[in-house]
Amino acid sequence: MHAEIKNNNVSDASRDKANQIIESCVHCGFCLATCPTYQLLGDELDSPRGRIYLIKSALEQNQFSLKSLRHMDRCLTCRSCETTCPSGVEYGQLLEIGRDIMEPKRGKLQSLYRYIVRKTLLSPTVFRPIGYFYRHSKITSKSAKPEKANSTVLLMSGCVQPSLAPNINHTIKNVLSKLNIEVLESSQSQCCGALDQHLSATDDALKKVRRNIDHWTQQLESGVESIISSASGCGVMIKDYPKLFKSSDPYFQKALFVSSKTKDIAEFLSTMDLSGLNLSELNVTYHEPCTMQHGQELGGLVESILSQFGYIKKTVKDSHICCGSAGAYSIFETKISNQLRDNKIENLNASKPNMIVTSNIGCLMHLQKGSSIPVKHWVELLDV
Ligand code: SF4
Ligand code: SF4
Repeated sequence: MHAEIKNNNVSDASRDKANQIIESCVHCGFCLATCPTYQLLGDELDSPRGRIYLIKSALEQNQFSLKSLRHMDRCLTCRSCETTCPSGVEYGQLLEIGRDIMEPKRGKLQSLYRYIVRKTLLSPTVFRPIGYFYRHSKITSKSAKPEKANSTVLLMSGCVQPSLAPNINHTIKNVLSKLNIEVLESSQSQCCGALDQHLSATDDALKKVRRNIDHWTQQLESGVESIISSASGCGVMIKDYPKLFKSSDPYFQKALFVSSKTKDIAEFLSTMDLSGLNLSELNVTYHEPCTMQHGQELGGLVESILSQFGYIKKTVKDSHICCGSAGAYSIFETKISNQLRDNKIENLNASKPNMIVTSNIGCLMHLQKGSSIPVKHWVELLDV
C-alpha cells in the first residue's frame, strides 16, 4: 500500500514512520480474523486493515470525520493484529499517529470527559481515595527481608495498582526477598506514560517518559540491575520507549538502555532458581494479557513458570483475544468491553478453576467485575 502523505499536522518523524508502516501492509486481510472489534461488529472499518485505510486517508488528504475517530476509539490497541500479520505491519505505532491527527475532531464535552478521567487516574492524591473505595485486595502476609542481598532491582509500583491491589507489589517484594534480592520501589507518581499515550496526550506522555528515563538511568548506573514491571501494560510501554524518539534524538540511546534493562516479573523469575518457593493454588486458569502475548511477545512464559510447581496448562478458547480492559477502554467503550469480558470469563471458566490469574492490573480489575471466583496476579500465589 503506497502513501503520499501531505498532511502538515504531522511531524517529519511520524510521517516517515507512517509511510513505512502503510507501505508494509499488503491488504491480505489475515488480521481481520483475530481482531476482536471486527469479530464483534463485522465492519471492515473496525478492523486493522480498515483502520489503516482511514489513517492513510487522513494522512494523505487530511480527510477524516468524527466517524473515522469513532472507528479509532473502538480499537483496543491489543495488537493481536500485529501477531497475526505476515508482513510485520507495526499497527500499534501507526494507530498512535492516526489518533494524534484525528483527535482535534473530538467534541469539546467528550474531550473534557477524557481529560478528567485521565487526570484522575494519573494523580495519586486524587485517585487514592477512589482506589481505596474500589480496592480489590489488601496485604495478606508479613513483609520478608533478604537474608543477604546479592543484587538490587527497581520495582515499578504503577500509578493505580498500589491503591487498588497493594498485595501485588507486596508479594513481589516478598518473593524477591526470599531469593535474596533487594527491591527498591518507584514512587506512585512515576507513571510509565501509557495512559497519556493511548489517549492522545502525547506531550504529557513524552514529559513523563523523559523524566523516567533520566531517573532510571541514574539508578541503573548506580547499581540497580533491572527494572521490574509487575503490570504487563506498563512493561510494554517502557520496552517501547525507543519507538517514541528519532534515532538522532539524545533520548533515543538512553531509551534503548532503559528498555533493555526492563523485565516483566515473569521474565525475571524465569531465570531464577525457584525451588525454595511454593504455589498456594494449583487449580487456576491463566488469562494472558495482550500486553504479554502480543506486546512483549512473552506468550507461554507465566504458565511455564507455574508448571514448575505442578500446575497443568489449560487450553483457553480464543486466548489470543483481548478481555476488553485495554487501559481506559472499559470506561469509554463499555458495551464492547463488557461483551469481551463476558466471553473471556466463559472461556476461562470452562475448565472449572478455583481462581483466575493474570499479569496486569487492568485485566485483573476488569475480569473480577464479571467473575464469581477470585481473580489475582499470578505472583500472589507464590507468597506462601
Ligand atoms: S495482515 Fe498485515 S498486511 Fe495483511 S491486511 Fe492486515 S495489516 Fe495489512
Ligand atoms: S489492535 Fe486489536 S482491536 Fe485494534 S485493530 Fe488490532 S486487533 Fe483490532
